[in-house]
Amino acid sequence: MDHSIEIKSVSKSFGSVKAVDRANLAVREGELFGVLGPSGCGKSTLLRLIMGFERPDAGTIRVRGKLLADPADGFFTPPERRHIGMVVQDYALFPHLTVLQNVKFGLRGRERGKREETASRALELVGLQHKADRHPHELSGGERQRVALARALAPEPEVVLLDEPFSSLDASLRAELRRDVELILRDVGATAVLVTHDQEEALSMCDRVAVMRQGRVVQVGDPREIYWHPSDRWVAQFVGEVNVLPGLVEGDGVRTDIGVFDVPDSQRSGPRACPRAGHVHVAVRPEQLFVGSASDGDGDAEVVDREFYGHDVLYRLRHDCGRTLLAQRPSVELHEVGERVRVHPTQPSMISLVD
Ligand code: ADP
Ligand code: MG
Repeated sequence: MDHSIEIKSVSKSFGSVKAVDRANLAVREGELFGVLGPSGCGKSTLLRLIMGFERPDAGTIRVRGKLLADPADGFFTPPERRHIGMVVQDYALFPHLTVLQNVKFGLRGRERGKREETASRALELVGLQHKADRHPHELSGGERQRVALARALAPEPEVVLLDEPFSSLDASLRAELRRDVELILRDVGATAVLVTHDQEEALSMCDRVAVMRQGRVVQVGDPREIYWHPSDRWVAQFVGEVNVLPGLVEGDGVRTDIGVFDVPDSQRSGPRACPRAGHVHVAVRPEQLFVGSASDGDGDAEVVDREFYGHDVLYRLRHDCGRTLLAQRPSVELHEVGERVRVHPTQPSMISLVD
């Protein structure tokens, strides 16, 4: 299959810091692709390499099959000849220009007579045509970011790169804008790479996600794979809360201190297959543990802490085996701190194996 963006073994160091370390990525046409990782793991550097703001030390970068950078040959296409749009966290709009002028700025080099019309159409796309004559300071943060998106999309770039575009917005605005931006990108069928350190953002918006750690791409998969089948313990812990428990392989399952978990089909064969016997570690998400009221002293854990989130509750439990467990339940049935409870795997009780 032809890939829209193809990055092969790309590295970039700043002094002794390996910002990007032999990264491989293949983004499909029309895909909303996430790059997820903690601060400093190299996400922005990766985007800047695709954009052409940085030159790779090694490796190749292609967009729509066209070679853009290959240091082995000294080959490098400058950013202005790449047809790539970019949206960054702090909008980067010109304060002295109107909204329409800001969007037109992205079209310099285009035929003069058509710029106004193209810019207006881009503003319409993000629902801001009625604010065309305003200045950026007259807009809300969410509106400014939509103008930035209109500016990036107006020249009909081959790909759009978004670097933490929502992180300067407050929580409710962020949720709304995420939805809007996703719809706009899907509407125009854009191929987009969204960089974020926010797990929920990556998992909820993107078709596929690459998880980065210390300059390396450590896993690529769709949100479900990333969340339910993390490639290792670090990914499991980075993409959500998780209990890592030692277990013993028994038939088709793994026995742990809190019950038997099934081994999913995906882990019956292949490179990360569950061994047929012996000790393993399993990753169990808090929502995979059932917490019930203990009657007549049949409990096996005690609630030591509780975080109430409205829609659900995160319990910290001390199990009689000595382990601390995280369990997440809907808030319709509440357990009190100090209460004795029963805890066991929910059905289906699938787990993933981690090292
Ligand atoms: P992220 O976007 O994931 O937070 P960055 O790509 O910005 O990470 O940075 C990755 C690493 O490279 C960090 O250690 C950062 O300090 C370093 N770095 C990035 N850009 C530069 C630069 N221009 N000069 C020196 N170090 C840099
Ligand atoms: Mg960054």
